[in-house]
Amino acid sequence: MTSAQPIRIGIVGVGKIVRDQHLPALAASSNYRLVAAASRHGKVDDIPNFPSIEAMLEAVPEIEAVSLCMPPQFRYDAARLALEARKHVFLEKPPGATVSEVEHLKTLARREGVSLFASWHSRYAPAVEAARSFLASSRIRSAAISWKEDVRRWHPNQEWIWTPGGFGVFDPGINALSIATHILPPMHIASAELDFPENRDAPIAAHVLFRTADGMDVPMELDWRQTGPQSWDITAETDKGAMLLSGGGARLAVDGKVVAEEKEAEYPELYRLFADLVRSGRSDVDLAPLQHVADAFMLGRRNVVEAFHD
Ligand code: NAP
Repeated sequence: MTSAQPIRIGIVGVGKIVRDQHLPALAASSNYRLVAAASRHGKVDDIPNFPSIEAMLEAVPEIEAVSLCMPPQFRYDAARLALEARKHVFLEKPPGATVSEVEHLKTLARREGVSLFASWHSRYAPAVEAARSFLASSRIRSAAISWKEDVRRWHPNQEWIWTPGGFGVFDPGINALSIATHILPPMHIASAELDFPENRDAPIAAHVLFRTADGMDVPMELDWRQTGPQSWDITAETDKGAMLLSGGGARLAVDGKVVAEEKEAEYPELYRLFADLVRSGRSDVDLAPLQHVADAFMLGRRNVVEAFHD
C-alpha cells in the first residue's frame, strides 16, 4: 500500500463520539476513505449502513480497517472478528473491558499480520507533550490529579456507562490516566476508595492514591457530581515551579503563566498515527491506563453512596 492510496475504513458503533469526532476527522483526512458503517440504530449519511459488523464485513470485503466506537463491553467480540478477517483495528478508549481481552487482541493482530491501535485521545491534547518535557527536565516534589465533571452534562442517557464494564467515573478518569502514565514517573496504586450509588453498578466518584517507585504519593480525585466549573487538571510542584496542566491537557501553565496552549486536534492526530501504523505494519497498544483502572477495582474499598437519577 502506498501513502497515495486512502485506507478503506468502516466505522462501528455510531453514537456521540463518532458524530463529534470520528466523522469530521475522517472527512478531513486524505489518508482514508470511509466506505461503510455498522450500528444497530445509528446511521452515517451517503455510505452503506449495516446492522452489525458481521454484515458490514461480508457485504464490503474491500474494507481494510475498522474503527470500533461502541461501549467497551462490546469491543472485544467486534475486534476479534475484524482481526480474524485481517482488518486493521482502531480501538476507541478504553480499548476493552478487561486487560486480558486486549492482550489477546494484541496476540491476534500479530498472528494475522495486521495493525492494532489502542487509541488514547487525551494523550494527544495540545499541551501534553509540553508537560511531559517540562516534567522530564524537573525534579518533581509532588503531583496530583483532579478530574471533576457533571455526568448529566457529558453522559446524558448513556446507560452502558453505569453497568459492569462501563467504568463509571473511570470512563473520563482513564483519560486522566492516559496522560498521567505518559508524563509522570511509573506508579502503582497504594489504596483506593470507590463510591457506588446504591442504584448503580459503577462508581460515581473515586479517591485513588498512587505511589511512584521513589515513594512519592500522587492522589487522584475523580468525581461525576461536579456542577459549576468543571476540572480536568494534573498539578505538580517541581524545582522549576508549580505546573498546572488543565482542560484535559489543553493548557500548560508554570507558576501561573501559560506556556503552552494550542488548538485541539486529538482525533486528526489519532487518525494520522493509525495511518502510520497501518502503512508501516506496526501496532500500538499501551495497556497502562487500563491496568490502573483494573487495579483500582481490585484494591479499592467500595462505599455505597446516595442513589443517582438522571
Ligand atoms: P454512545 O453515544 O452511547 O455511542 C456508542 C454507540 O455504540 C451507541 O450509540 C450504539 O449505537 C453502539 N452500541 C453497540 N453496541 C451497543 C450496546 N450493546 N449497548 C450500547 N450501545 C451499543 O457512546 P459514546 O459517547 O460515543 O462512547 C463510545 C466510546 O467512545 C466509549 O468507549 C467512550 O469512552 C468513548 N469516548 C467517548 C467520548 C465522548 O465525549 N462521548 C469521548 C472520547 C471517547 P447503536 O445503538 O446504533 O448500535
